[in-house]
Amino acid sequence: MLSPQQKNILGEIDGSSVSKWNDWRWQLKHCIKDLDTFETLLNIELPEQLRKNFRAIIEKFPMSITPYYLSLIKTDDLENDPVFKQSFPVINELHVGKNDMADPLHEDKDSPVPGLMHRYPDRALLLVSNTCSMYCRHCTRKRRVGDRDTIPGRDQIMAGIEYIRKTPQIRDVLLSGGDPFLLSTSYLDWILTELQTIEHVEVIRIGTRTPVVMPSRITDNLVEMLKKHQPLWINTHFNHPRELTASSRQALKKLADAGIPLGNQSVLLAGINDCPRIMRSLVHKLVANRVRPYYLYQCDLSEGLSHFRTPVGKGIEILESLIGHTSGFCVPTYVIDAPGGGGKIPVMPTYLISWSTNKVILRNYEGVITTYKEPDSYEPTFCERDCEKCDLQLSLEDADETKSMGIARLLADYNDTIALVPENNTRHERRG
Ligand SMILES: *Cc1c(COP(=O)(O)O)cnc(C)c1O
Repeated sequence: MLSPQQKNILGEIDGSSVSKWNDWRWQLKHCIKDLDTFETLLNIELPEQLRKNFRAIIEKFPMSITPYYLSLIKTDDLENDPVFKQSFPVINELHVGKNDMADPLHEDKDSPVPGLMHRYPDRALLLVSNTCSMYCRHCTRKRRVGDRDTIPGRDQIMAGIEYIRKTPQIRDVLLSGGDPFLLSTSYLDWILTELQTIEHVEVIRIGTRTPVVMPSRITDNLVEMLKKHQPLWINTHFNHPRELTASSRQALKKLADAGIPLGNQSVLLAGINDCPRIMRSLVHKLVANRVRPYYLYQCDLSEGLSHFRTPVGKGIEILESLIGHTSGFCVPTYVIDAPGGGGKIPVMPTYLISWSTNKVILRNYEGVITTYKEPDSYEPTFCERDCEKCDLQLSLEDADETKSMGIARLLADYNDTIALVPENNTRHERRG
């Protein structure tokens, strides 16, 4: 069933049948990329300040909105509309703040072969598609949007797959882009099949926003193909409860019914979802549709996003309103993706407020302060990384031999490191 607004848009585009609306290739072909079409399809006249700089903005950061996503815009309070704000370019995108960066996450540096990022020890991110159906105004890879609006060639993808093949530490591969679901089903099938010939790849994940912006992409055919490639996880990107429409819910149902675990990554966006009540409603709707809230991202320092950023305190406040107040699996991990490429860093309210040698003092979500008495006689298992001598049962074939690092290394018994010292430490340089 189409809404009256959807019928209008469909009628304006080609006066035709509902079956087209539900065809993702039709949606893709009719993405809205210019001002006049935007106004005609919504039957509105935009205020002058929105029209004025449109051309200059889209020259740097192009616009693309699927007819479906456009149909979710409520025109009566346009400028506060969360769907409008995520999809329509505004002049603030051209304000480059002094802390903004083109590539804040140093993705280009952690890329051993083009289109592959190997940042964490055991997982890698493979960019398989260079395009999206809807261009999110808050995209962290904004610098690349519409850049070469083409799909990376088979050769480039094959080079990424070969890197994964010769890097046995990689057990988890994330397909991202662009949106991997803009590839044809058979092409994606080829990529998944190739990856699954690699013995050390245990799981594959796909990040896609199509259930939000073009749910018709989740066809039976696509789902049948994906089903062959378990274990496969899908992460989607809902930011506002309004995005969980009947069509979106249907797409999620198809994926969940196929036994694919679903997660959601939201971005905390000023003026869109920076409200504990909106977030609470969002996570509840996600969970009711079998989607586990996975991450809530602090907005990155990419150029053109300054008007979307909130203080970190807003995210903490949101988590404070969720933890304990609602089901544990409704609570996403709030992360800041470290500028400079340090990866995602979780942040949350503080619950451990003090401790002594045998007691810790905690506070709960209600403000109750409580004590936890620690065991008097805990016999630590001193670990020399010699599992044969140990009482705990880890079969040696499965023992993970990767070196520990970071704070985990300082905590380990079998490693004598007593301090981690940053490079270029002058005190250490003086020592010669
Ligand atoms: C987010 C990300 C991952 C996956 O991180 P998880 O915390 O495992 O979800 C992997 N590689 C890169 C480059 C990433 O940005």
